[in-house]
This record gives sequence, structure tokens and C-alpha cells, in this order.
Amino acid sequence: MYRRSTQYWWTLAVVMAGPLWAQTRASSGQVAPAGGTPIAEQYKGVAKRIIDATLAGNDAYRKLEELCDDIGHRLAGSTQLERATQWAAFALREDGQEDVRLEPVTVVHWVRGNESLTMTQPRDVPLAMLGLGGSVGTPPEGISAVVATVRNEEELDALGEGARGKIVLFNHVMQPYDPEHGSGYGQAVRYRGRGARMAAKYGAVACLVRSVTATSLRSPHTGGMGYGDAKVKIPAAAVSIEDAAMISRLQARGVPVVVTLKMEAKTLAPAQSANVIAELRGSTWPDQIVVIGGHLDSWDVGQGAHDDGGGCVTAMEAINVLRRLELIPKRTIRVVLFTNEEHGLSGGRQYAKDHEDELPKHVAAIESDGGTFRPIGYSVQCADEKRQQIAAEQMGDILSLLAPLGATDVVTGYSGADISPMRSAGVVLMGHRVDMSKYFDYHHTHADTLDKIDPEELSQNVAAMATVAYVLADMPGRLGEVAQR
Ligand code: ZN
Ligand code: ZN
Repeated sequence: MYRRSTQYWWTLAVVMAGPLWAQTRASSGQVAPAGGTPIAEQYKGVAKRIIDATLAGNDAYRKLEELCDDIGHRLAGSTQLERATQWAAFALREDGQEDVRLEPVTVVHWVRGNESLTMTQPRDVPLAMLGLGGSVGTPPEGISAVVATVRNEEELDALGEGARGKIVLFNHVMQPYDPEHGSGYGQAVRYRGRGARMAAKYGAVACLVRSVTATSLRSPHTGGMGYGDAKVKIPAAAVSIEDAAMISRLQARGVPVVVTLKMEAKTLAPAQSANVIAELRGSTWPDQIVVIGGHLDSWDVGQGAHDDGGGCVTAMEAINVLRRLELIPKRTIRVVLFTNEEHGLSGGRQYAKDHEDELPKHVAAIESDGGTFRPIGYSVQCADEKRQQIAAEQMGDILSLLAPLGATDVVTGYSGADISPMRSAGVVLMGHRVDMSKYFDYHHTHADTLDKIDPEELSQNVAAMATVAYVLADMPGRLGEVAQR
């Protein structure tokens, strides 16, 4: 168990448009690098060392405790995010990482302010709501109007002018998670992102969306929304599943529902933030890089524990474990804690821009942003399909090393939001995959807190990430390239 001093704390999105993990399974043949020995065979001993040492004790949970309990949620533009970047840099330096630095990023600065939603007819009752990130506010007295409930865009189109002067509620039911198709998030999230502009087109005065989740204990889920080029910007908020269902039932019985929406939300001038970077420098080809990371920002509710504090801490601790074991790979492992994924992906975009010249030397970029549950494997994504196929096959071999963790599954397809801007440069992108069956229960809510994270599962993630990053950074050939080089 590693111990650190406790003075750290004073020195202190959008994009998931496609269905998550709706990928193609890769064949997992053994691929021989130059020399003919399968990669996994060469790294069997070292992988066991990494996994055993990580599971025996590591500092990840303690780091996450500091991030979640001492700092809390971390919205772009907030002082908490600023503190989190300082904290992360301090913790990485204290671990002895090299070239720890903050790379400046300009971020959007939206503030929620006070907000409420009250049903006034047929009875007076406050509803569980959260304004959506990027929404405009209401006048101080709020917006009071009859609610018109629709399940989807087609029903809104059918309602047409009937929406004028009303508050439109999108009561789209998200499909529950199933192991084959994953979650229904990809289909449901469009109403959160675009509902306000759809409703404004027909003269609606505000937009409510059923929270993007399949399971609820009356917790509303926030998230990003956008107005695009809409002429009229109307306020938008999420309501809990329970309240959306109730309004819908009342309407079905012909009972008019009137609500008052009050939101102080506004967008301020852009703020300064930073990507936090640290390295385990390679011994032989230090200019070749394996990126591992997650996003340090979160929405302004809960603690951003699963989304994405756990992902950040997993990467931070992965290189800490390797350094403690004195496992210095041939290539550099670079931890990147991206800023502002949630509200515009500006950290990921800035990283790809700042490091444009270096991207051809990025061997792989791995992101963990699907919660910190039991790890199950990796996804592989590359603009060059041939390289993607080879990389996926190599990963099939490499992941056999993670059999003790049960994280051997390789698919091709979606990897991660923050690393996606590196895709056009041909970098092999990888998503660190976990069992996501409960992820969207907590996602973007007040309930995304540390107690939802199992310390053992966090350790398993660190072990998986450390092993994969080490092998990719150390193996003789470069990931995605044919063996005979
Ligand atoms: Zn998120
Ligand atoms: Zn995230």
C-alpha cells in the first residue's frame, strides 16, 4: 500500500452519439511479432507481476477518495475543476512521474444557478428536475404553461402547431441494458441534445426531457444540449422517469397538466482550464507514445465518480504501479487527463491540436470513460481499417494476459470521446471496456458518488490498464503493424 502526504489539496458531454459498444467482435488469433513468439507468451511473467502487485494493494481508491470527497464535482469553468487539475498534477508529481504539466485549454463556462419545476395543475407538487448543460434560463418569475407530452420526433411533428405556447415533454423510454445490444443511451440521448430546438420550431416555450436512463429512483439526469442554429432558444431541463411517466398518464386521461419552470442558467465568458499530463518515459524509444487517460471534468452534480473520476485515477495509478515495480517500458506511457469532455470536448480537441506533429508517433491512445465497474476488455478503432484489423488481432493475443481479471474481450468500434479527435491522424484508439449494465443508472446524477465504486473493481481496472499499457509500450513491433518489420 502506498502512502502519500495529505497536503495535496491546498496545492490544489455529446459525443456519445452512437450506440455504446455496438461494435463488431474481432477474431482473437495469436499474432506473432518479429521473432515468431506470440506477444502474450513473452509478457506472461511480467503481466502476472503487474496484476498480482496491483490487486495486492495500490493507491487508486485513495486518489479517487481525494478527488470525490475533497473536491467533488468538476464542471468546466468551475473552481472545483481548477482545483482538480492542481490536485492531479500534485498527485502525479508526488508519485514521481515525469514531465508533469498543465496544457492550457479554453472551456465553455455555463452555470446552473437556482432552478425548480413545479406542477401547479392538477395539484401543487415540486418535480425532480435538472437543467440541461448549455440551456438558457427563464425569466425570474419562470415559465408557466400547459405540458404537451410526446414520445418522439414523429409525435411532435404530428402535434405540430399544437405545441405553440406549451412546454413540450419528450417522454422517450430508454431501452434497458442487455448484454448483446448494450444500453439504449445512444437512441435516447438525442432528445436531451436536440429536443429544445425540435420543440422551439413549433413555438414551444420550454422543453422537458425524460431523463436518459432506464432505471430511476426519481433522480433526474443532466447532460449537454445544444441549440445549433435555432433562431429561438428555449430553456431545457430533464425530469425524472417517475415524473415524466406521471405527466404522461395524466395527459392520457385528458387531465391538463400545468407546470412552472424556473431556471437561472446562463453562459458566462469562456474560462481557462487545462489538460493534465504526466509520463513514464520510455527507455529505448521515448518519442513513441502510448496515451492512457480519461476526462477530469464532470457535470455539476454528484461527485463525477464513475464519470469519469474513476477513469482518470485508473490511468494515474497504472503508471504509478509500473514505476513502483520498476517496469520502465521501451516506449513512453503518457497519462492525459482531459478537461471538459462533458461540455464541448475542448480538452480532447486541444490535445490533438497541440500534439499534431507528434500524433504519427502515438502508438495507441486508450480511454476509460464507461464507469469503473468490472473490466471486460478493450475496443479497437482506427481510421485505417487494415491497421484496425491487425491491432484487434494483436489485442486478442495480448488480452489473454488479462484472463485472471476476466478482461479478454476485444471488439472493434467506438473507443472514447476525448481520444476521438486523434482518429483522423490514424492513431489506433482503444476503449477500456467495463460491465456497463449499471452505468447509466448513475450517469450525470447526484448519485454518481464514490460509494458506487467497488475498490476491488477499481483495482482490477488499474491492473488491466497497467498491463495493456506496458505491453503496448514495450513490445518489439508497433501495435497495428504487420509482424515482419
Ligand atoms: Zn458524462
Ligand atoms: Zn464521461
